[in-house]
Amino acid sequence: MRPFAYQRVTDVVSGVQALAGSATTDNTPPTESTIQPLAGGTTLIDLMKLDVMRPSIVVDINPLANEWSAIDPAGGNLRLGALARMSDVAANSEIQKNYPVIADSLKLAASAQLRNMASLGGNVLQRTRCSYFRDVSYDNCNKRNLGSGCAAMDGFNRSHAVLGTSEQCIATYPGDFAQALIALDATVEITGKFGIRNIPFAQLHKPPGNSPQIETTLTSGELISAFVVPGRWPRSVYLKARDRQSYEFALASAAVALDVQEGVVRDARVALGGVATVPWRAREAESLLKGQAFNEDLAGRVAEAAFAEARGRKYNAFKIELGRRVIARALHVAATMEV
Ligand code: FAD
Ligand code: SF4
Repeated sequence: MRPFAYQRVTDVVSGVQALAGSATTDNTPPTESTIQPLAGGTTLIDLMKLDVMRPSIVVDINPLANEWSAIDPAGGNLRLGALARMSDVAANSEIQKNYPVIADSLKLAASAQLRNMASLGGNVLQRTRCSYFRDVSYDNCNKRNLGSGCAAMDGFNRSHAVLGTSEQCIATYPGDFAQALIALDATVEITGKFGIRNIPFAQLHKPPGNSPQIETTLTSGELISAFVVPGRWPRSVYLKARDRQSYEFALASAAVALDVQEGVVRDARVALGGVATVPWRAREAESLLKGQAFNEDLAGRVAEAAFAEARGRKYNAFKIELGRRVIARALHVAATMEV
């Protein structure tokens, strides 16, 4: 690991100032950033050891946990502090009851030890598990080095994305929790040197396009301080298919939330994980559900529609059929659950 300076913030104002110290005006790619916030460190330190991320200053934001780790379901909207630990949120009885899709997305991620360390903010900002990205002995990775090419296009691309890809990058967004947030129309509260701004969660991540090195719309020096989820979604589920039943990233997953009244679907949310370059909301597919009585045939049509634009490659084409089945199964579970 390269040498770096360690700083520990004392309060929000000093934290934001410390991060803004080396900030540029554009959204500088994290690999080239000179300064990085540290939460649980389970992604950042990993990537620093691999020499993929090379910050010269690491700013420990954990002292902000007093202000930024609350789990607050009061008033009908759920507010989750960015420094809340994954395990604490997954174990919260209110979350389990009214937002099972959130509880499950966190519970099914990583390992118990990692969930105890890892924060919600760090979780949504985790970086791709593309093995060519994580191994700097491969020169051709546009995400690390724009213009160098993409080793995964014609390489071993079994874990890669089938939706939202570009000619520059096909890396999968690996997180689980983000699919629950995008399904539930969450907003992100962002704290920076100019104050607080709120954006829809769906606008946080950027698809690779021609600039796969820029992964989010955060500007340098900005911190995620909280997530807010409107309403309650007791009829919701997160289903994750993976190579083994624990401690493994999704090959395909679905976050589904339904509002069913008198047998008719009044509102429906469908998001996909493990198959796309960014957290993926299947809006056209979910629109098929609204106003309909749920049945297995309808679930199949929704699943087909969700993957209508998918593009498989040599080793990952199986994800299209797997993803369809995961959606159909998740819809069935959500539609038939007792609430
Ligand atoms: P850090 O490592 O501290 O930070 C991650 C990034 O976010 C850094 O760039 C950091 O600068 C930035 N950052 C952190 N907090 C903020 C903030 N508040 N504002 C702005 N920037 C911030 N995840 C899953 O979803 N599903 C899995 O199945 C899964 N399996 C895993 C298996 C292994 C072996 C490992 C190592 C990880 C796995 N993960 C999985 C990823 C894990 O959940 C993340 O590493 C973790 O959630 C990151 O949180 P953290 O607090 O440790 O982040
Ligand atoms: Fe790099 Fe993206 Fe290609 Fe992976 S898929 S090698 S991250 S450019």
